[in-house]
Amino acid sequence: MLKSRVKFHSANGKRMIMIVEDEEAKQKDLEGILANDYELLFASSGKEALELAALHHDMISLIMLDLTLPDIPGLQVLSRIKGDPQISVIPVIIVSSNQAAEVDSLNAGAIDFIPKPYPVQSVVQARILRSIELSEDREIISLTERDPLTGLYNREYFYHYAEQFDQHHKEMEMDAIVLDVNHFHMINERFGTAYCDEILRRIGEKVREMVRDTGGIVCRRAADTFMVYCPHGKDYKAILDSASIGLTAEDTSENRVRLRMGVYACVDKSLEIARRFDRAKLASDTVRNNYAKSIGIYDHQMNERELYAEQLIEHFHQAISDREFSVYYQPKFDIRPEKAVLCGAEALVRWKHPSLGMIGPQKFIPLFEENGLIQSLDAFVWIEVARQISEWKTKYDHLVPVSINVSRIDMFDPHLPQKIMEVIQGAGLTPKDFHLEITESAYTEDSEQIVEMVGEMRELGFQIEMDDFGSGYSSLNMISTLPIDALKLDMQLIRNAFLIRKDTRMLELMIDIADYLKVPVIAEGVETEEQILALKKMKCDIVQGYYFSRPVPAEDFEVFLKEKARESRE
Ligand code: C2E
Ligand code: MG
Ligand code: MG
Repeated sequence: MLKSRVKFHSANGKRMIMIVEDEEAKQKDLEGILANDYELLFASSGKEALELAALHHDMISLIMLDLTLPDIPGLQVLSRIKGDPQISVIPVIIVSSNQAAEVDSLNAGAIDFIPKPYPVQSVVQARILRSIELSEDREIISLTERDPLTGLYNREYFYHYAEQFDQHHKEMEMDAIVLDVNHFHMINERFGTAYCDEILRRIGEKVREMVRDTGGIVCRRAADTFMVYCPHGKDYKAILDSASIGLTAEDTSENRVRLRMGVYACVDKSLEIARRFDRAKLASDTVRNNYAKSIGIYDHQMNERELYAEQLIEHFHQAISDREFSVYYQPKFDIRPEKAVLCGAEALVRWKHPSLGMIGPQKFIPLFEENGLIQSLDAFVWIEVARQISEWKTKYDHLVPVSINVSRIDMFDPHLPQKIMEVIQGAGLTPKDFHLEITESAYTEDSEQIVEMVGEMRELGFQIEMDDFGSGYSSLNMISTLPIDALKLDMQLIRNAFLIRKDTRMLELMIDIADYLKVPVIAEGVETEEQILALKKMKCDIVQGYYFSRPVPAEDFEVFLKEKARESRE
């Protein structure tokens, strides 16, 4: 691990110089020149010098080394100092009457060469001070360019060096590789920071070793992510295996630490370095926590998806101002009465893209949740829905509440209640006209904030429906304490019950849970009469699905409102 050497640590607060010189008279000469400004440490042989250096390496600011020593030749002492990572940072000035040794000394890593007999005192003093200051500056630079835990480059310097590498090897095909630790947070929580630091240090060592043998540069990008930039053609599996061996401190048999790797091979050098590694990271995330596969390769398909996503993001603001987004409505029917009655609708956004055609929300909602655009989109949808409801209010007396989907990201906005209220009041509506759908996974991932926000929204008078229930991992214990007004079953439950496994027990269990919580249960994705009949038997309350209607544009939805108005007049 790299750490700053403690400077001015000697008893009197002066920097310390070690003088390696066997002749007492010469020691005295130097003492006369330096004792006022420095703390001095004397060694009269090569062996003693190496021992003292090892012992006081974090205090010595400079070594003055005579070339002729009784035991080991001075140049050899110098090369041993430079070969030992612990003391190699200490600058060494060679002192010798053999002028011819100057070039060899500098080549072997000396910072300066002072001939004997010594030049005038002030010159010696100035050269010593300059050497110390130079090497202290260099050390500060290398501290900031490196990650203190692993001693690897940090991200900024890594990108910088990767660029330099490209400059020098324009024709060379290069790979961008990312290494991640699976379940790192869990390991951290379970075994503690010290344990994890040790794991990360070991991974750091392994990857450093790897490029030492094969060429390339490495860095630690973030907590548990390492980046490697190396010539193309490596055996990726061998790299991953060698980085994975012996990571777990005590017993390797348990192998609790599993690495995964993402490779963007033969990088496109016209892309920024950071983008190349984003691609490797993307590839790595495709095998996240995958026990069968631990190497992901960035491929053509991922590239297509990336370009498609970019296209959507770039065009987003234009699309909002050109009103390319529209809201479709899908009816919800209460199936408890003999004849099903309309009891609500869900607002679902659609994108009529000028060149890509009609795009469903599955393609862009997750993307917009990642980069924050979802908030603008949802705000647009809410305004549009509020306008539509108030139009229907003036046209038809029998209105049903409309559910809007509220993203997990929206729920983190402390101004959310105020924003929604403004939209509603602006259109002359009340919270009763709206239901809010929040997915189960939002509750389980960030429960505290979500529960708090949901509580606030309910106090304002909104009804909250938990969407896609059964797809997340809520425990029964947790659900019973959650503030909700309805459960919407995940569509997969219906599919499993009627199409895939033909076993309705899970579905029945979920309906029982709703019953236990005393909230109505809504089944989504219901497509056939057979399903409706079975759900009726199971005491499901409300149904939404293609059986009644697909999501339709507002004017088509009016058919349902008119019908309801007519029925109520009869
Ligand atoms: P969701 O909220 O669970 O919406 C239900 C989805 O099921 C809709 O897909 C709907 O078209 C589809 N569906 C309904 N009945 C059936 C059926 O009988 N069979 C089949 N196969 N599918 C059915 P859609 O419109 O593609 O929306 C997908 C998801 O996108 C929604 O899932 C919701 O999570 C999200 N979403 C849609 N609009 C918005 C929005 O304005 N804001 C946010 N944040 N998310 C939205
Ligand atoms: Mg929904
Ligand atoms: Mg749903």
